[in-house]
Amino acid sequence: MENYKCKSVGIIGSGIQGVCTGLHLIKKGIPVTIFDRHDPLSNEFKAASYGNAGHFSPYAVLQFNRPDILYDVPKMLFSSFGPLALKWNYVPKMFNWFFYYLKNCNRKSMLHTAKYMHQILDLSLDAYEEIFKEIDTTGLVEKKGIIYVWTNKNLKSRELEIKIRNDLGVKQKLLSQKEIIELEPNLQPVFDAGVIFDYAMHARDPHGILKEIFRLFIERGGKFIQSNIQTLEQNSLEQTIIRADNQEYKFEKTVVASGAFSKKFTDQLGENIPLDTERGYHVHFKNQDNLISRPVIFLDRGFGMTPMKQGLRAVGTVELGGTDNPPSKKRIQYIIDCAKELLPQLKKHEDEWLGFRPTLPDFLPVLGPSLKNKNIIYAFGHQHLGWTLGAITGKIISGVVAGEKTNLDLSPYSSKRFN
Ligand SMILES: Cc1cc2nc3c(=O)[nH]c(=O)nc-3n(C[C@H](O)[C@H](O)[C@H](O)COP(=O)(O)OP(=O)(O)OC[C@H]3O[C@@H](n4cnc5c(N)ncnc54)[C@H](O)[C@@H]3O)c2cc1C
Repeated sequence: MENYKCKSVGIIGSGIQGVCTGLHLIKKGIPVTIFDRHDPLSNEFKAASYGNAGHFSPYAVLQFNRPDILYDVPKMLFSSFGPLALKWNYVPKMFNWFFYYLKNCNRKSMLHTAKYMHQILDLSLDAYEEIFKEIDTTGLVEKKGIIYVWTNKNLKSRELEIKIRNDLGVKQKLLSQKEIIELEPNLQPVFDAGVIFDYAMHARDPHGILKEIFRLFIERGGKFIQSNIQTLEQNSLEQTIIRADNQEYKFEKTVVASGAFSKKFTDQLGENIPLDTERGYHVHFKNQDNLISRPVIFLDRGFGMTPMKQGLRAVGTVELGGTDNPPSKKRIQYIIDCAKELLPQLKKHEDEWLGFRPTLPDFLPVLGPSLKNKNIIYAFGHQHLGWTLGAITGKIISGVVAGEKTNLDLSPYSSKRFN
């Protein structure tokens, strides 16, 4: 690989993985074109990277492939008012995902996922700081920590999370109810205790940050084409072809960073990758962001609130139902009710949004070359943590594209695990 220089790269997707990867590649002197069906600078851009809760969460090592919650899942699914919901018409399409989920829902896999999420999460803040040096983040980022609160109902699960984080060396500070109220005096004391990650930060406008990174990419010579990409193939050792409706584009390499929509391309490439989506929602309570100073997540409810430029963003729930089903009014109402349980003074909400977390059933992303087409590189499946992992993903994937060596063990993120 010595003296190797990649000649050109196409990236499908201008979410946070796509723009961070594009920026890193341009900085290496490699010509890059990003494709997206929506211009990231426009108001039509409503991807997951636009509407998320804005947490930079380097501590969130433990995912949902954990045996302690498995037994609660059926109960949650049959309740119309809980953190987890299902679109029943989509169940048959999720069999493969459920199969791999059950296979990975055991202590060994849970710890494997935690270890390899930790490997990249631990580098995530530094990777953003590197990018933040080059963009104007005034009013966009706040460093006040992130609080999780809970009731004593599922203490065993809380203890498990605390222990696994401790074992991995993740910094955390446990809080009593009184200490939480001292930090956030407007909260109703409907919880028993919690934890603060005081080094964590949050975005006051995720889309605003994405736009700044995208503008820097363009300023440095990156190209953008607004187009709905239909097919992708590698036709020789040195060429990949991206096809839109009436046009085709050729690059030495292509990065698939299409979030929850990446499966369309991996299916075309003949790889059986069980990518699906965990649907999530947000609403804004305009001009009410001053009620809390930092993000507060209510673990029992699977929901959180982040003070943002757009207002207080109430975000959350997991709904399994694919990308084509319409939004559920009940899920929106659930979020509003949860927000008002913590802050009864909240008034009218606006801006109902549905977004798609790209999730693999073992809750690790897919990062690295396609198994059958080495010039096609995958960068998707970051589930609940794709906002946090955008900058480090850009760094890792640009290194893979450029053929650089790394000290990281990237093998757990390979799509090989499903083939
Ligand atoms: C409710 C909710 C809350 C969240 N909160 C947080 C949080 O607080 N912290 C955190 O770390 N993560 C959070 N996440 C997760 C995070 O938002 C995602 O993991 C992350 O944004 C995924 O980024 P991405 O670039 O992979 O995908 P996306 O942001 O979805 O971008 C993919 C892009 O690809 C484009 N695309 C797809 N197919 C095509 C095609 N065929 N042609 C052209 N363009 C195409 C889409 O238009 C889109 O712009 C949250 C997600 C949700 C839904």
